[in-house]
Formats: sequence, C-alpha cells, structure tokens
Amino acid sequence: MKLFPVDAPGHEQVVRIEDPESGLRAIIAVHSTQLGPAAGGVRMRPYSSPEAALEDALRLSRGMTFKNAAAGLPLGGGKAVIDADPARQKTPEMLRAFGRAVEALEGRYWTAEDMGMTPQDMAEIGTQTAHVAGLADGAYASGDPSPITARGIFNAIGTAARHRFGSDDLSVRTVAVQGLGHVGWHLCDLLHSAGAQLVVTDVDAEQVGRAVESFGARLVGIDEIYGVKADIFAPCAIGAILNRNTIPQLKVGVVAGGANNQLATDEDGRRLHERGILYAPDFVANGGGIINVATEILRIDNRAAWVDEKLDALNRTMDRILTGAARRSVSPNEVAESIVAEILHKTAA
Ligand code: NAD
Repeated sequence: MKLFPVDAPGHEQVVRIEDPESGLRAIIAVHSTQLGPAAGGVRMRPYSSPEAALEDALRLSRGMTFKNAAAGLPLGGGKAVIDADPARQKTPEMLRAFGRAVEALEGRYWTAEDMGMTPQDMAEIGTQTAHVAGLADGAYASGDPSPITARGIFNAIGTAARHRFGSDDLSVRTVAVQGLGHVGWHLCDLLHSAGAQLVVTDVDAEQVGRAVESFGARLVGIDEIYGVKADIFAPCAIGAILNRNTIPQLKVGVVAGGANNQLATDEDGRRLHERGILYAPDFVANGGGIINVATEILRIDNRAAWVDEKLDALNRTMDRILTGAARRSVSPNEVAESIVAEILHKTAA
C-alpha cells in the first residue's frame, strides 16, 4: 500500500492510495482539522476517471467541515472515496489496505460509513486502525445514524414551518417526501405521528407500498414529486435535485430534507429565495447523523442526553439561520455558510 501526496489548494492534506495487491485505489481528503480530527465517511463507487474521484473527495470533505462546524462538534472535515464497484470488487483485503491508509494519517482522519459501505466493512477496516466509527458492536458503537438524522430533519421542518407559516403544528401540513430509504422512512414515521399528511415517491415500488400502508401516504411518480401541491418538500434521496428544471415546478412553501448537496448550484439557493420558498440548508438539517457518529469518535458516555442536547443546539442554529435570512432577505444557505465561516474564524483567532 502506497500513499502519494496530492496538491489541493484549500485542503490541509490529500493523499492518493494505491495497493496493487488488493486493487485498492482511493483518496483521503482532509479539508480541515481546525476544530478537531477530520471526520467523514468513506464512499465506495466506480468513478469515470481518477479526476472525478478526486473532485468528489474534495467537495465532500469540504462539506463535512461545514456540517461538523454547524453541528457544534469538535471535529474537522474529511472524506474518503474508494474507486470500486461495491457489488463486484469489494474484498476484505481491499478494506484492510484502506484501514492501513487511515492508520497512516495517525488520527488526523476518522472514517465511517457512506455510500456502498456497511458496518461489517467498518469492522474489517477496524482490524487495521482505531480511527473508524459506524461499528455495529463495541463499547461506544453508534450503529445506524439514520433515526437521529431523521429527528434532526423533523426538527428542521418544524422550525422552517414556524418561520414560513407562523406555526410548527405539522398536523395541518402536507409533506412531500422524496426517498423512503433509511432516513426518509424514519422521517415519514415521525411526520405521520405528528399528524402530517404524506405524499411519497421512491424508485423502489415495494418500499412505496409499505409507506402507503403504514402511513396512509399518497403515492406519486418519481418525476411528479416536484410538482406536488404541498406545504413542505423533504428531499431524502439524491443530491442536486433543486435545480433550474425542478425549482419552477415546486408548489410548496418550505424545502427541508436529509439528502446531501440538494442545491445543484449556489444560484439555485437564490432561485428558491426569489420564488419565496424557504430552504432549510441541508448540511444543517441533516447534521443528526454526524452527531450520532461523533458519540463513537468522542467516546461519549451519556449518549442519549448528549445527542438530545446537540440536536437542540442544531435546531437553534437552524432558527438563527432562518431568522438571519429573513432579516437580510437573502437565501438561508448564504447565512448558514457565513455562520460556519464565523465559527472557523473564531477558533482560528
Ligand atoms: P438510502 O440509500 O437508505 O435511501 C435512499 C432512498 O432513495 C432509497 O429508498 C432509494 O430507492 C431512493 N431513491 C433513489 N433515487 C431516487 C429518486 N430519483 N427518486 C426517489 N427515490 C429515490 O439512503 P439514506 O441513508 O436514507 O440517505 C438518504 C440521503 O440522506 C442521502 O442523500 C444521504 O447522503 C443523506 N444522509 C443520510 C444520512 C444517514 O444518517 N443515513 C445522514 C446525512 C445525510
């Protein structure tokens, strides 16, 4: 296993990893350790080129600096990508080689699950390094983060509803949910318990059937979800779904969901604002997941109380962002980014 430094302005450290024996080709990007060790998952997927893999790692690691700072965590931002098809190319040897690469960074980067990875994979990586979270077993194992992610999004929806409609009573609201996976399902459960009407979509027809049965949800096609007449749109599937094509279709007052990188471009944040749609920035709304993972990295003993406190603080941050956006009449994303810049500036001083 060999590590090669990559020059990436704006990032503290980026390494390319090659292990011909196991076939591992990976990148670990440490964007910032200003607030603490860089934490962020490892994603396994085939990339079209080495440049595309590097670009993904750089973008995602920067995003983790923002997410961790907004969640008030003493963690910096990092991310890793492994260029391989998880269904066909993942092997224990490859995961162990990746574990050795994480170990070589001597704790500057903590890894965890992301797309294409499982808790079992984390255990394999953990045979080579202690700097791994998202384990299924062990004293501080934090397990599946998605129920906590969903609680954070549910709070964000309530706060955004209060700002936009004057009340956080969701029993009078209709929420359109895109994606009924780990996060979307738990979110639907919380919304249903709060009395909200649900309109749902997913590419997985069985999962949609379960939601119709469990939550009395109304089903729409995957392209129809954007034009649904509802109060709130909660994207919980894929990124870049708020763009020049979808934003003109929206008939909601609020967008608040769990998917990462919902805005295709910064311009789309402004487009939503101009249409009078209140956008709860994704890296704040979905911070519950990293809060959950942080209990493992930081070895938190009183886990449930600590998570509750961090989720409350995250929601206060969302409130501050939406208040600031209304006062300055700008997109909440702009305010969220400036709040993170302020946190980083203060700790640098
Ligand atoms: P998941 O894979 O469990 O669920 C995604 C769901 O979206 C699946 O049911 C899939 O069939 C569906 N889907 C895919 N493409 C779709 C489309 N075009 N239209 C409608 N449905 C579609 O993933 P997850 O863990 O629930 O994560 C969902 C999103 O939230 C991702 O963007 C993820 O990065 C983000 N996120 C997740 C967590 C977490 O705790 N799991 C934390 C932070 C952010």
